[in-house]
Amino acid sequence: MLIEICKRRYGRELKDCSNEEIYYALLEMTKDLAANAESNQGKKKLYYISAEFLIGKLLSNNLINLGVFDEVKKLLEENGKSLYEIEEIEPEPSLGNGGLGRLAACFLDSIATLGLNGDGIGLNYHLGLFKQEFEHNAQKEVSNPWIEKESWLTKTDKSYEIFFGERRVVSRMYDIAIPGYHNRTNKLHLFDIESVDESIVEKDSITFDKNCIEKNLTLFLYPDDSDNEGRMLRIYQQYFMVSNAARLILDEAREKGSNLHDLYDYAVIQINDTHPTMVIPELIRLLNQEGILLDEAVEIVSKTCAYTNHTILAEALEKWPIYYLDRVVPQLLPIIRLLDKKVNDAYHDEDVAIIDKQNRVHMANIDIHYGISVNGVAYLHTEILKNEQLHKFYKLYPNKFNNKTNGITFRRWLLHCNEELSTYIESLIGSDFKENAEKLQDLLKYQDDSEVLDKLLAIKSEKKHQLAEFLKKTQGITVNENSIFDVQVKRLHEYKRQQMNALYVIYKYLDIKKGNKPSTPITVFFGAKAAPAYETAKDIIHLILCLEELIRNDSEVSPYLNIVMIENYNVSKAAKIIPACDISEQISLASQEASGTGNMKFMLNGAVTLGTMDGANVEIAELVGKENIYTFGASSEEVLAHYKNADYNSADYYVNDDDIKEWLDFMLRKDILKIGDAKKLLNLHKEIAGKDWFMTLLDVKDYIRVKEIALKEYEDRKAWAKKMLINIAKAGFFSSDRTIAQYNQDIWHLS
Ligand SMILES: *Cc1c(COP(=O)(O)O)cnc(C)c1O
Repeated sequence: MLIEICKRRYGRELKDCSNEEIYYALLEMTKDLAANAESNQGKKKLYYISAEFLIGKLLSNNLINLGVFDEVKKLLEENGKSLYEIEEIEPEPSLGNGGLGRLAACFLDSIATLGLNGDGIGLNYHLGLFKQEFEHNAQKEVSNPWIEKESWLTKTDKSYEIFFGERRVVSRMYDIAIPGYHNRTNKLHLFDIESVDESIVEKDSITFDKNCIEKNLTLFLYPDDSDNEGRMLRIYQQYFMVSNAARLILDEAREKGSNLHDLYDYAVIQINDTHPTMVIPELIRLLNQEGILLDEAVEIVSKTCAYTNHTILAEALEKWPIYYLDRVVPQLLPIIRLLDKKVNDAYHDEDVAIIDKQNRVHMANIDIHYGISVNGVAYLHTEILKNEQLHKFYKLYPNKFNNKTNGITFRRWLLHCNEELSTYIESLIGSDFKENAEKLQDLLKYQDDSEVLDKLLAIKSEKKHQLAEFLKKTQGITVNENSIFDVQVKRLHEYKRQQMNALYVIYKYLDIKKGNKPSTPITVFFGAKAAPAYETAKDIIHLILCLEELIRNDSEVSPYLNIVMIENYNVSKAAKIIPACDISEQISLASQEASGTGNMKFMLNGAVTLGTMDGANVEIAELVGKENIYTFGASSEEVLAHYKNADYNSADYYVNDDDIKEWLDFMLRKDILKIGDAKKLLNLHKEIAGKDWFMTLLDVKDYIRVKEIALKEYEDRKAWAKKMLINIAKAGFFSSDRTIAQYNQDIWHLS
């Protein structure tokens, strides 16, 4: 098929085509295959609405799922071509930010793989989140265009008029096919406007006129919301997303015979975090327009929607001032006030109200009152929701609360990113694990098999070598392939505590200077984007980059310790970094990381976790046993008690502990200030020594203690390889196929 496409498109044989030409031919072929695949025509359909879908590159994964990867790879090889080189040409869609968006992408893969009737709905951001560049040891944000003339997007004939008060835009739906693994194909629907204008963005930046909705609406994911215009633009985006979604859902239900009074028999909507919350009042409004009385419309919608909570961070639980909503979507205000009144009449409790005394609308509260389900994303997280964060709601609706521990698709995070490991596993236990991840446990019988353990180490070395080559080519960095690869890649946030890892590096630097040279060198990898308006996060990136430069130029230390900060961390980079990792850093302050999914990807690829008892780390620890994970730090109960009693004071640690003082003051040393920006470093020093909201100094010493144990135990290669094997063997629980089966069983009830 590929050969014919090349002939038709270029008039040439495959072997005479350029990689670029072959990429577009493969794109066409794959889209055709997916378009001809069967889709589930069931009566009831899931709509997974999300502001983000961090889907990553699609070519190889689609080939794998469509069952033609090996065939295509072989055909290309026979013609002197490499699929891996061709893959590099594909631009990575920048439709997500981090874990939440990647989760949505893994879910779409699993929904299709299980053959369920479910589509994703989101927005078609033209310039993505942003592309990260490093300049003067600091993060610079530039736009990240990814849509080419030919892409995975297929323009549909769906289009709606969307009104914002007086303003009106015309939408257009684009589809991306989501083929399941050896199963049916679903869709990701991305809404856009035709009047979007990329030229309004200032060159080499992400700055643009925020008032010009007709041109800017679908330019960026999470536009800067540090001013009123930015906050308003986010509401425009959210309403645009859910109004299109609501119209599509009603159209599809009617087409299948719904009279709309029975909408919940035709549709179930999963609201991914609070961004799509306005779908609730919007659907009520639309049903009312169709002649259904308001009270009944509220009932119908309340039986159709389900909410996933992803965080207990207050900053992420959206509260929109009524004033903004009134400006952007005045048509929703009567509905929101009605929803608020019903809650007040029933409960007379300010803490569970929709609209608070400061006239702000609590979006999560709408989701909880007017939906069938509230789920957290890992065991610990759901317990915290029930017992602390949302306790009052839990008392009102105990049956709505449920846990769905996150997962990852093994197609991308094993079969594709680590073909060597996947092939080897298959040679040991057969291919059943590809359909049934729990089968990975069959590996356990090899846990004392020397040959198997050696082979696991050899594969790890190969993946480290591949990463080193990639970094040399892309960032001009040389890394020691024989060093321990200690990796922390994830969004930058103080709660994830990259700053604590940086303090470890400072400790280790000083220790090496004292003459304590580690027997195996260490490379500490970071990769992280910081939100453009989050100054402390950007200051932490600055510190890491300064340390990287300082150490690289210090010939006493650099043979033993190095930092590598990977630029523009995204899904394709994750796929190269994760298989190469020895130690997976999952060091968030206990209680703050709802689940994490990076932790699961690392485990699956044979890294050993160094982490706090937070998020899904708790479940990892339970599965692998304490021999096979390194845990440290304050427990979630202790941390929550510190918050409740307001009794954590970082200055006490800074003033009273000479080690901690030395590490923190290191960032203000002359040799660092010569490389760095004094203002940024002073701000960061002040933040940690004086405030440290996420309690770095509470845990830093225990962290260093346990990290040193892990590094020491790495020396016993056989014992380490056994830990690797057990981690891989126990990772099956974290397949998103399991997560999705549970969503379906408990919430969606699709056939
Ligand atoms: C998995 C993934 C994440 C989430 O990582 P966490 O460690 O769970 O925060 C973020 N970004 C990318 C590109 C990912 O692949």
